[in-house]
Amino acid sequence: DHPVCECNSCYGGLDCSQFLSDCAADANSGDPYFLEPFWMSHAESSAILVAGWHRMGYRYSDGSYISELLVKHIHKLHDMVGNAVTDGSYIVFGAGSAQLLNAAVYALSLSPSSAPAKVVTTTPYYAMYKMQTQLFNSLDYRFEGDTSLWKNNLDNSTRFIEFVTSPNNPDGMLNKAVLDGPNVKAIYDHAYYWPHFTAIPAPADEDLMLFTISKLTGHAGTRFGWAVIKDEAVYQRMIAYTTLNTMGVSRDAQLRVLKLLNFVLEEEEGRELFQFGYKTMTDRWIKLKEILSLSKRFSLQQIAPQYCSFFQKIREPSPAYAWLKCEREEDKDCYRILRAANIIGREGSMFSAEDRYVRLSLIKSQDDFEILADRLMKLVAEEQG
Ligand code: PMP
Repeated sequence: DHPVCECNSCYGGLDCSQFLSDCAADANSGDPYFLEPFWMSHAESSAILVAGWHRMGYRYSDGSYISELLVKHIHKLHDMVGNAVTDGSYIVFGAGSAQLLNAAVYALSLSPSSAPAKVVTTTPYYAMYKMQTQLFNSLDYRFEGDTSLWKNNLDNSTRFIEFVTSPNNPDGMLNKAVLDGPNVKAIYDHAYYWPHFTAIPAPADEDLMLFTISKLTGHAGTRFGWAVIKDEAVYQRMIAYTTLNTMGVSRDAQLRVLKLLNFVLEEEEGRELFQFGYKTMTDRWIKLKEILSLSKRFSLQQIAPQYCSFFQKIREPSPAYAWLKCEREEDKDCYRILRAANIIGREGSMFSAEDRYVRLSLIKSQDDFEILADRLMKLVAEEQG
């Protein structure tokens, strides 16, 4: 008596065929279902079958919690896409990149100094940085808000750890570190640095970079991310963290990721993932822009076309999220205005920005996107009278 599929919020019934016309367009979550059709058309070549007896123990045969073969695949993946320099760098796995955010803060904050390191980032930012840093409530680091508070205020005795999200969640900008100095260390969160979401102007070559399978293949539920680290001591501390925290990442998850990456790397059809991702996301962005071009009440973030070394051409933007702004002075609560039009976004305040901004997820299923587009079209039509 379970439904055969996971119904989108606008469909019901056992096979999700019943359209619920007064449903809300849910553009809140970052679930990457836009890639589901790709994997449906390659269901067999991307499948794994795991026998009951397979790899029951804690460790791989070399005594580690990390599959060496998967590490090799990750180096090869970055070489193929050209989005990161990984030669000579160390790789650490995490249960999603979410686990690695705090592992990285921990690794960069250890020092004989008694004052806690200041963890900062630039508004608008992904809420998890602040929430995790505050949750762990360490003596070695504290969340200290926006980089602008510290930019002209760096002294030589204070240590900073700056989260740099590039492309940024929520607005898709290719951010660079704001703070610069001998006591500043950056964590580059490159969750969205894939050709689906952005031009790749050049391979990223930072000391500590984070990536995730969630936004590359769309397998967010597998919970797999990785860090690319130049410094051996930082690498050792991140390994210590993930070992003490979860004894590494599920071996089953590593096996599934190995299969998915093997398909993407080794098979002609697998490499089409990037073409598929890019086309889906640009089509959505073009449609959204067209709808909102008629509006004076709502605006979108502006992203310029840019040369992409992966596609070897100047390409249109295709961000994962729309960062919508309510332009009218009186529209201070943009979330509420959209909610009244049956659209669920995520409030600007969730990104430490003003509530005249709302993030709309563009990476969900095609049905989700089309319902969102339809609701926005109605809202803009009302404005036109
Ligand atoms: N960083 C950013 C900027 C994100 O948007 C997300 C997920 N939405 C993550 C990290 C964490 O992703 P995961 O734990 O699935 O790898």
